[in-house]
Amino acid sequence: MSEKIQTIPIAKPWMGEAEAEAAKRPILAGWVTQGPEVAAFEQEFAAYVGGKYACAVSNCTTALHLALLAVGVQPGDEVITVSHSYIATANSIRYCGAIPVFVDIEPQTYNINPMLIEDVISDRTRAILVVHQMGMPCDLKVILDIARSHNLPVIEDAACAIGSEILWDGQWEKIGKPHGDIACFSFHPRKIISTGDGGMLTTNNPEWDKQFRLWRQHGMSVPDTVRHGAKQVIFESYPMLGYNYRMTDIQAAVGREQLKRLPEIVERRRYLAQQYQELLADVPGLKLPTEPSWARSNWQSFCVRLPEKCDQVQVMQAMLDVGVSTRRGIMCAHREPAYSIEPWSCGVEADACNCQPGSCQRLIESEQAQERAIILPLFHQMTEQEQERVIELLKKAC
Ligand SMILES: *Cc1c(COP(=O)(O)O)cnc(C)c1O
Repeated sequence: MSEKIQTIPIAKPWMGEAEAEAAKRPILAGWVTQGPEVAAFEQEFAAYVGGKYACAVSNCTTALHLALLAVGVQPGDEVITVSHSYIATANSIRYCGAIPVFVDIEPQTYNINPMLIEDVISDRTRAILVVHQMGMPCDLKVILDIARSHNLPVIEDAACAIGSEILWDGQWEKIGKPHGDIACFSFHPRKIISTGDGGMLTTNNPEWDKQFRLWRQHGMSVPDTVRHGAKQVIFESYPMLGYNYRMTDIQAAVGREQLKRLPEIVERRRYLAQQYQELLADVPGLKLPTEPSWARSNWQSFCVRLPEKCDQVQVMQAMLDVGVSTRRGIMCAHREPAYSIEPWSCGVEADACNCQPGSCQRLIESEQAQERAIILPLFHQMTEQEQERVIELLKKAC
């Protein structure tokens, strides 16, 4: 067969003329950063998640860094989180000089196991950083109860969870309202909507929101929007150490268009995920992800656990050979070379656990998920035929 194989990517942003046109606005207006498009994007984003304040930044990693600083994380503090996440989650804790304390996950949702949190709270614990992994809301109700009883702030790494919902006092609410203290989002192309790169912090605390705005712009006391409209000469000052974590107006203009597409994107992804659930249900030994009754995922990723007899690499290679991209399960930060140097903990003394960079007995579910799961293609433009092809190939490879 010399027929060209049609490839199926793992993900693909859904963008078009509307975004290209929107990017023209700031370019032709000449105000290309920290201007009116950023302000409008923030307002529209806050309205979408149903929260009070939204502050745009350069990406979700910088958002996480500022969130941790805002709740007072300092060098030597401990922050409870998961290892089973994109490495940015743990890294943001290290940027504060704090130590990530890794908790294992629940195998069905790939999210933090709330039952293991209380166990690792110490007098050095300063915050809990939870992840809504692959868009699936984590068990915030239980986590918040634990956190409140220990007076600990909760930060939500919602990088993948734009458009996901959680049942809250009988109502479906958007992730990012936020239900914890601060939520952080990503607009990287691998997520649900994209601005190329970009991030957003949401909170209901006006002081933190003010603080984010100072920090993202070198700690400068007068924002561009104020200086721009000033009728009198004003000089800014720099009362604190800040960063350059700005989002540009070109990105924000694109983000505003993406936000309009979001409801349709989530609906389509939920449909495709449902199809995967139904059409893969009869594969012996294949474990499908579960959605708790109180959660509605945006299905940023659809992750399946392979049957015992299947080799992860072989299955992935067999599919890649015929043009279908997959990814292995989410990484574990504690197994990366960087974390053989960077300090971390699993909540017990090293000699009680025998933790190695490559393995930790207390993070077994995390490690298994990385080794035994694969992520299947899922994107807005995916056709039924493409999905059927993925399903057929996966069945054959197993
Ligand atoms: C992608 C991702 C991040 C990092 O987002 P960036 O915008 O690339 O900085 C952080 N946490 C999780 C869980 C992610 O998936």
